[in-house]
Amino acid sequence: MTLTTEIIPETLPELKPDIKEFTREELTRWFHEKGIQPYRTTQIMSWIYLKRVDSFDEMTNISKANRKLLTENFSFSKPYKKQIEVSADRSKKYLFGLKDGNCIETVLIPEKNHYTLCISTQVGCAMGCRFCMTAKSGLIRNLTQAEIINQVLGALKDVTGEKQLTNIVLMGMGEPLANYENVIRAIHILTDNDNGMQFSTRRVTLSTSGLITKFDELGRDTKINLAISLNATDNHTRSMLMPINKKYPLEQLIDACARYQLAPRNKITFEYILIQGINDSIEDAHRLTKLLKPVKAKINLIPFNEHAGCEFKRPEESVILKFQEVLHQKGYTSIIRRSKGQDISAACGQLSAQKSSSNT
Ligand code: SF4
Repeated sequence: MTLTTEIIPETLPELKPDIKEFTREELTRWFHEKGIQPYRTTQIMSWIYLKRVDSFDEMTNISKANRKLLTENFSFSKPYKKQIEVSADRSKKYLFGLKDGNCIETVLIPEKNHYTLCISTQVGCAMGCRFCMTAKSGLIRNLTQAEIINQVLGALKDVTGEKQLTNIVLMGMGEPLANYENVIRAIHILTDNDNGMQFSTRRVTLSTSGLITKFDELGRDTKINLAISLNATDNHTRSMLMPINKKYPLEQLIDACARYQLAPRNKITFEYILIQGINDSIEDAHRLTKLLKPVKAKINLIPFNEHAGCEFKRPEESVILKFQEVLHQKGYTSIIRRSKGQDISAACGQLSAQKSSSNT
């Protein structure tokens, strides 16, 4: 059920570079060139990412002259919440408006003791997964570092009270590894413990459809968690559901996962969307346990979230439980991840698709 929808007026485009597009090192270099002490980088990052101000004017321990210099040289983007849908279970789906008129989705999910935020990394997606609404628009463009971070800053404004936003999943619109450079720059800001956003790397998870050529770099550049959107146990079915499998079939994907540099005691999460009559048989469950043997793995079962424009169906509850039973018998940790926000435009890409069709 949609409880509320908020509309917030649009802002005008800015021509100066956005301060949120820069890394700590780049800002320090810039300040150095202007003769400003390097510790100012720390102060400015702290204002942006910890105190979360919306303008240079609010940075009261920065001199007026330096604030003027910043204003003359940088713009300061703000998250622009074009629409918000709130579900009966209190999940919030944001439609963030971007300066070029495109929109992206972000979902804030209340858990028992914390919030999880699911963020987007591209406008649209080129991967063409059959079960996904976002796939229908194709890839429009990569998100910038600032556009990725602004989703988190925007959602944080709505997180009040004792429960904190601690977990980030890069699992919204887009394939994160296809926008590698901007995603990694954003992750470094999100997990910068000094004056970045101070999220624990153990609580940030990147979910990929299986762009294995980037796995080694990812393991080297960050210590975040890896999740694989798997969804099938044989190449025929996976290639039908996820065209990327034709390029990097299951054997190569599992090899790349087995080589992936995991933090100690960590496991790779395999997401498995259960679709009636496609991948939900007992044989599939047994094949899955064999397939994942070479990898330190845990499994998230996700009953398919039915939506208009997709012919797939969600399996019966008894089928879902039998599938999980096989995984448990073989010693795998597996949870059934129930989609939150089923009464709102819950499928990834659904709200954005509605917005585009209402704009045409
Ligand atoms: S499921 Fe993810 S990778 Fe596949 S088309 Fe959708 S957004 Fe892209």
